[in-house]
Amino acid sequence: MSNFAEKKPHAVLTPFPAQGHINALLKIGKLLHLRGFHITFVNTEYNHKRLLKSRGPKAFDGFTDFTFETIPDGLTPIEGDDEVSQDLFSLTQSIMTNFRHFFDEFLAKLHESATAGIIPPVTCLVSDCYMPFTVDAAEEHALPIVLFSPVSACYLLSTSLIPKLFQNGVLPLKDESYLTDGYLDATVDWIPGLKNFRLKDLPDLIKVTDPNHLIIKYKNEVTDKCQRASAFVINTSYELESDVMNSLYSIFPSLYTIGPLASFLNQSPQYHLETLDSNLWKEDTKCLEWLESKEPGSVVYVNFGSITIMSQEKLLEFAWGFANSKKNFLWIIRSNLVIGGSVVLSSEYLKEISNRGLIASWCPQEKVLNHPSIGGFLTHCGWNSTTESVCAGVPMLCWPFFADQPPNRRIICNEWEIGLEIDTNVKREDVERLINELLVGEKGKKMKQKAMELKKMAEEDTRPGGCSYMNLDKVIKEVLLKQN
Ligand code: UDP
Repeated sequence: MSNFAEKKPHAVLTPFPAQGHINALLKIGKLLHLRGFHITFVNTEYNHKRLLKSRGPKAFDGFTDFTFETIPDGLTPIEGDDEVSQDLFSLTQSIMTNFRHFFDEFLAKLHESATAGIIPPVTCLVSDCYMPFTVDAAEEHALPIVLFSPVSACYLLSTSLIPKLFQNGVLPLKDESYLTDGYLDATVDWIPGLKNFRLKDLPDLIKVTDPNHLIIKYKNEVTDKCQRASAFVINTSYELESDVMNSLYSIFPSLYTIGPLASFLNQSPQYHLETLDSNLWKEDTKCLEWLESKEPGSVVYVNFGSITIMSQEKLLEFAWGFANSKKNFLWIIRSNLVIGGSVVLSSEYLKEISNRGLIASWCPQEKVLNHPSIGGFLTHCGWNSTTESVCAGVPMLCWPFFADQPPNRRIICNEWEIGLEIDTNVKREDVERLINELLVGEKGKKMKQKAMELKKMAEEDTRPGGCSYMNLDKVIKEVLLKQN
């Protein structure tokens, strides 16, 4: 006999096992929990171990109707340092081959617990679209499934068009020389929604010479599954990417904008799980105190996210650019940011910056971005960081690294006009000049004004009556609660 007389709807949420993906899906978990769902959030064993280390052994216990469970990831454990980000290619390979089996076993365990009356029966799946095997599982168990895109509409469109890029002879590249000899400067004019789109703007990952490359198979599989899901939702707002969204609707008829998620939760401040977060690195809490001591709009916040890496030479160009700008800066240097070793900053440098720079290892980013002292954000342009910055009304300096970041840079700088680009081959003089432009220059003022307009737009979209709010409501009522 079940203990669940009122029969709560029960959603199983499965993020792709990387920081940005976990954070974004956790926000959806909270929104569904707020709407009365029992939530099972499924991390890999490796990431869960890291979460317990960074958040404390009891951090995920005792929440009513919100539980954290694990599945294996099929990778050989990394010995020693457990703050190393896992190799994304190996993870992708494992997702394509092993995860379905792990997930089936996991669902069977949940079924047993439900039969024993320990949890409510699973009624729906909500999964990162980069976990495509979950659609097969949903079909087999006759469960409705909502797939979630944590990436921008622009990036989603460019990867959804891979079959067309093959048909039109753009991909695969004939050989590696096509990556460098000017071929990529050509503009593609047949993609509706992407104006002045250069081959260069395509994600690096798909610029391959082998038509059977794992990444091509994976992206095509993702596109196929997004078309088969009961509904497909994306962390953007129609207003932010309307041209591209119009194009995407013809590829994915059941696609709904439900973002920016950062704004959604900003508007539910009394929510009792507000403090529940999913940082794989331990937060350095002195950042917020330090920000309190600074003038409004006077600090540039620097963070390259969870995956970006750089050489020690590039790190030093940034370091001296910050120091020479004479502006306040909060710089997050992750333990594995520098290729091949730990960061080395001389005592001379640390002395030079001591009264205007703070270096920390990880921070509560959304709180930092929303602090009044922050005047700008130097970012690698991950989509979470991008949308979190928009939701805080903070203009950006952009130094994209890989994957969706170059296309996101294009949106920030060229379309929204709330960012300035730093060259890949970063030079300290440019960093110094751009920080000054951002914090006190004329361009910086205009960008701030536009960033505040976008923040307002994001708030309107995610509050009751707004487009993203109504879309989420529709997906909950018409898909996730369908069987209840
Ligand atoms: N983040 C954070 N503190 C940090 C660095 C990052 O809380 O010091 C969070 C950030 O708010 C975002 C996520 O980690 O939600 C990074 O995701 P994003 O898509 O920006 O970049 P990725 O790490 O996937 O490259």
